[in-house]
Amino acid sequence: MSLFVWPESNREFVAGVVPPEDIDSAWYFVFCRGEILLRLDADEQFMPLTHQDWPLLEGHDHVSHYMGRLGDKHCFAVEMSTIEEETAPLSGLFGRTDNLMFSMVGRAVQIVDWYRAHKYCGRCGAPNLTHDRDRAMICERCGIHAYPRLSPSIIVLIHRDDQVLLARNRRFPEGRYSTLAGFVEPGESVEETLIREVNEEVGVDVGHLAYQGSQSWPFPNSLMLGFHAEYAGGDIVCQDDEIADAAWFSLEELPNIPGRYAISRWLIDGYLSTKGVVI
Ligand SMILES: [Zn+2]
Repeated sequence: MSLFVWPESNREFVAGVVPPEDIDSAWYFVFCRGEILLRLDADEQFMPLTHQDWPLLEGHDHVSHYMGRLGDKHCFAVEMSTIEEETAPLSGLFGRTDNLMFSMVGRAVQIVDWYRAHKYCGRCGAPNLTHDRDRAMICERCGIHAYPRLSPSIIVLIHRDDQVLLARNRRFPEGRYSTLAGFVEPGESVEETLIREVNEEVGVDVGHLAYQGSQSWPFPNSLMLGFHAEYAGGDIVCQDDEIADAAWFSLEELPNIPGRYAISRWLIDGYLSTKGVVI
């Protein structure tokens, strides 16, 4: 029996584009210049603005996008041009949300970013119009529809018996190790990406790929597809410009790894649970 439970998918959320006319309960995810308005509750956990808070922000230029309904809360992604309250980068929410709230924030920021990046047609440069029913921007001149784009990526935990291969990206904080990840390139299958990325980043071969689950990762618009893969040969050779270090770690002596907000951790915990190890 597995000791680790992969985070449940968000079945409560009903996506939408057009808001209902009468709204008596709402959450507003508010962004300004790429950062999120940071409201914390008594437990230092992130809270979106509510219907009651909204008057505080009135009078500022803003664009509001309806996202849908979560339980009885109608949810909006809002971009303000200026804001007096404290804002923070999205990474400032790590440890300050549960997985459901983090996925709502990720959804909101991607809608706001997509809208800001598609005010003009990428093909002919004419101003775009907002579609009245779909999440799309339309060029009246050449007819192109611009939908929010996702970047599929693989993320993989490589294992051999009671060891896992973890790497330290050059961008990571000192001492932090994680699973390997990389973007799917045009023309590739996800499996081809995985084998290529592992080989490029740490020089080893893998096999027996086993899909585990996925996570939307809004840095900026990735869809992380998570795998376990079995070591199949080769010595570790780190890719100079990306990987500072990579090594095999015993399951009992893992280094500093990401928190439970990230799929990299779910992949590690999932493997540990198959071996009866809990951390
Ligand atoms: Zn156009």
